[in-house]
Amino acid sequence: MTHDTIIIGLGGMGSAVADHLARAGQRVLGFDRYDPPHTLGSTHGKSRIIRLAYMEDPAYVPLLRRAYDLWRELERDSGQALLTITGGLMVGREDSEAVAGSLASARQHDLPHELLDAGAIRRRFPLFEVPDDYAALYEDIAGVLIPERCIETYLRRAAAAGADLRTGTTVSAWEPDGDGVVVHASGESFRARHLVITAGPWAGDLLPEHAPSLQPTRQIMHWFQPPDGIDRFMPGRFPVYVWEPPTGDVIYGFPALDGPDGGVKVAIHHGGEETTADTADRDVHDADVARIRAALAERIPALNGNWLEGAVCLYTNTPDHDFLLGRHPHHDQVVLAAGLSGHGFKFASVVGEVLGELVLEGGTEHPIVPFDTGRLG
Ligand SMILES: Cc1cc2nc3c(=O)[nH]c(=O)nc-3n(C[C@H](O)[C@H](O)[C@H](O)COP(=O)(O)OP(=O)(O)OC[C@H]3O[C@@H](n4cnc5c(N)ncnc54)[C@H](O)[C@@H]3O)c2cc1C
Repeated sequence: MTHDTIIIGLGGMGSAVADHLARAGQRVLGFDRYDPPHTLGSTHGKSRIIRLAYMEDPAYVPLLRRAYDLWRELERDSGQALLTITGGLMVGREDSEAVAGSLASARQHDLPHELLDAGAIRRRFPLFEVPDDYAALYEDIAGVLIPERCIETYLRRAAAAGADLRTGTTVSAWEPDGDGVVVHASGESFRARHLVITAGPWAGDLLPEHAPSLQPTRQIMHWFQPPDGIDRFMPGRFPVYVWEPPTGDVIYGFPALDGPDGGVKVAIHHGGEETTADTADRDVHDADVARIRAALAERIPALNGNWLEGAVCLYTNTPDHDFLLGRHPHHDQVVLAAGLSGHGFKFASVVGEVLGELVLEGGTEHPIVPFDTGRLG
């Protein structure tokens, strides 16, 4: 066997795993059907939110703490700027997941935060036109990662540590081979002791028994030009945010990260049409723009100016929107991260460590039980 571990998919998650294993001295063979970072999966669009008072579930918070540390470590080691702290505002009614869920995480894990009522939101962030019965949780530590640069940095470091990374190579199949694996790509077969599957929206192709629980959706990112200038949208004045109304689209967005002439990014969370990675409609249509404009007109009218550009990106949703992270339910030699459900990127650094430890040590101290890969039946 010429390789210790094969990795299928070198995007957000796979690039971090490749880096972890190669730097631990493993002989790593990585495949990607394209050349990451690319725009056909789930990890493009120049920005990703990272936040700690996690509305989805307090179970994610310990992983997030480690994710922050590892992003900072990667920045120090590489000299690349990857993470910008902007502060983050989770907006909705008091009983929304955005507010109540974030608050539950903040309380359970004793995280610094502020609870704002509608008046306080308007005073502090006047661009948000919130109804009177709204509240928000604000945390200083939320911010933005640059996903393409994170992938590049991990892949460069992995290659420097000796990883054999083959882009433009699609894996067609894999199977167990004794206590190892065989992987088929480009008419060749490759053997290794361990397999890592981090194939993003294509994961269902490689994990047939998980495929029914891995539903890609078409999600669109938009960049708008604020009609009255961009100053009030600059970092420091405008935070990252998630805005969850009682009905209708949840939106999220970023401050102006591309300088005074760039656009300001905003998007709808979930609610995109079900698709597959191979057949997704990659064009942005008038109806897509109209849908986000309807939300902006009501909530952030100061952003509802010229539409500059849009891009299609894919979520891969599990039924409960929680990750599948850990060992394959039937094959001990296989580990995976799949079904990141539109909120996975911020975790890529710690996912690299979790899957790396599972391969190297056969276990991890990280609390991944809630993400068990067999839980969905
Ligand atoms: C619009 C949008 C906004 C988002 N916003 C946020 C956010 O603000 N914060 C956040 O934390 N998360 C966010 N996410 C989610 C996050 O970006 C994803 O969960 C994460 O990037 C997924 O990484 P991945 O490695 O699973 O997938 P990818 O990065 O897509 O990587 C999978 C790779 O596998 C390769 N591959 C697939 N099949 C094969 C095969 N058979 N052979 C070889 N290679 C293969 C693909 O080419 C691809 O490069 C967002 C996602 C989208 C789409």
